[in-house]
Amino acid sequence: MRYIVIGAVAGGMTAAMKIRRNDDKAQIVVYDKDTDISYSGCSLAYYISGVIKDRKSIVPRDVEYFKKFNVEVKTSHEVLKVDTKTKSVLVKDLSTGNMFEDRFDKLIIATGAQAFIPKIEGINLDGIFTLRNVKDADRIKGYIEKTSPKKTLIIGGGYIGLEMAEALSLLGMEVLIVEKQKNILPNLDDDMARLVENYLLQKGIQIRNDSSVLRFEGEGKVKEAVLSDKSKIPADFVLISVGVRPNTEFLKDSGIELLENGAIKVDEYMRTNIEDIFAAGDCAAVYFKLNGKTMYVPLGSTANKMGRIAGENATGGNLRFNGILATSIFKVFDLTIAQTGYTEKMARQDEIEYEIGHVTKPHISTAYPGAEKMTIKALAELSSRKIIGAQIVGTKGVDKRIDVLATAIYSGLTVDDLFQLDLAYAPPFSSAKDPIHYVGMVMS
Ligand code: FAD
Repeated sequence: MRYIVIGAVAGGMTAAMKIRRNDDKAQIVVYDKDTDISYSGCSLAYYISGVIKDRKSIVPRDVEYFKKFNVEVKTSHEVLKVDTKTKSVLVKDLSTGNMFEDRFDKLIIATGAQAFIPKIEGINLDGIFTLRNVKDADRIKGYIEKTSPKKTLIIGGGYIGLEMAEALSLLGMEVLIVEKQKNILPNLDDDMARLVENYLLQKGIQIRNDSSVLRFEGEGKVKEAVLSDKSKIPADFVLISVGVRPNTEFLKDSGIELLENGAIKVDEYMRTNIEDIFAAGDCAAVYFKLNGKTMYVPLGSTANKMGRIAGENATGGNLRFNGILATSIFKVFDLTIAQTGYTEKMARQDEIEYEIGHVTKPHISTAYPGAEKMTIKALAELSSRKIIGAQIVGTKGVDKRIDVLATAIYSGLTVDDLFQLDLAYAPPFSSAKDPIHYVGMVMS
């Protein structure tokens, strides 16, 4: 059996290794147009800031590593076309320019996504970057080292923009975030996003909401940006972080079904509409566990799961993906921001009748040094009393609470169950009544 995998990062390499574990005789070839493979995209901002010093620690595996498992990874090889009738792919070796066809019995598409670049006058000036892969991070690091920028502009106040705001600020630069929506972090509810905004302002990060860039100006290299209110902002470094688009252009005429945004449509088994062709990771859509609707939430956590499921099912398995809660977490300076399940905005769109619980409580016993408050906003469905969503902003202990709440939502627990949960307690770790218990109490 010959398996071809396109894309050698989270989704693709997880699938390839699962195939190998299930079938020791399988021929497995992975094509990737990049030369870095199996890297941690999630660590890129920390690599740029210097918090992670060693490039190797974010790109720990290479082609030789996978050879040990008899998985052939061909880097600098771009797949230009998939022919579903002849079950073959057209590949271009980017180092020689040679083109060739390769035949598969099963194909896994894991081509990920690329940063979206809006059409703005002057966007091609030097000093304007996007951040998606290790080469982008290298370019950003190199530019900063060479030109020592002072005033930086981040277009887009999502989590990548905020992680980079921290990185650039730690490197001694002034940072202004320009956000089109009325708040940064538009995936959060406005009240929670404002907590983050207030914190960032205290940290010296400037924010312009309800703003966009009309054009960039400069000779060869960016010097300033003209915003929608016509103000001119000096900027010698710009990061565009306004979302990503699935890498599926090459599939346009293949017959493989794509959604409107270009994401590959897969079922719960990662099967596309074409037999023997699977997809996993940021190139594909997923569905929201709580309403069954298709969603596009490109995350490494999900890409790994999808890759494993695609690998299992390509080798004859029957592993089902149970859907996502879009659980996510990130930090900016000392603040952690996390969410899972429905936000109020999403619940309104789905016309769900809900109740909200707000809790601001210390993460550990106040008797013990270092207790710090976090704010939890939880949503429960009125009719069933089930917890359906949570957002948390705080400096410590946010990770543990969001995972408890994600588990509660996944399991269909009610607000009454939250109070009953038998959670571990000792003063250095939590309080006798944990913030999670309080959520249950205020909503009961
Ligand atoms: P990708 O990582 O995009 O890999 C796809 C590969 O396919 C690429 O190497 C590409 O070169 C290759 N490819 C594309 N087209 C072709 C073609 N035609 N032929 C051959 N090769 C092709 N997620 C989290 O869950 N938590 C985080 O904290 C987090 N932080 C992040 C921070 C940053 C700065 C970024 C950029 C992303 C972050 N993510 C995070 C998202 C996470 O990195 C992605 O979800 C994950 O990398 C997706 O893996 P993937 O394998 O689907 O796609």
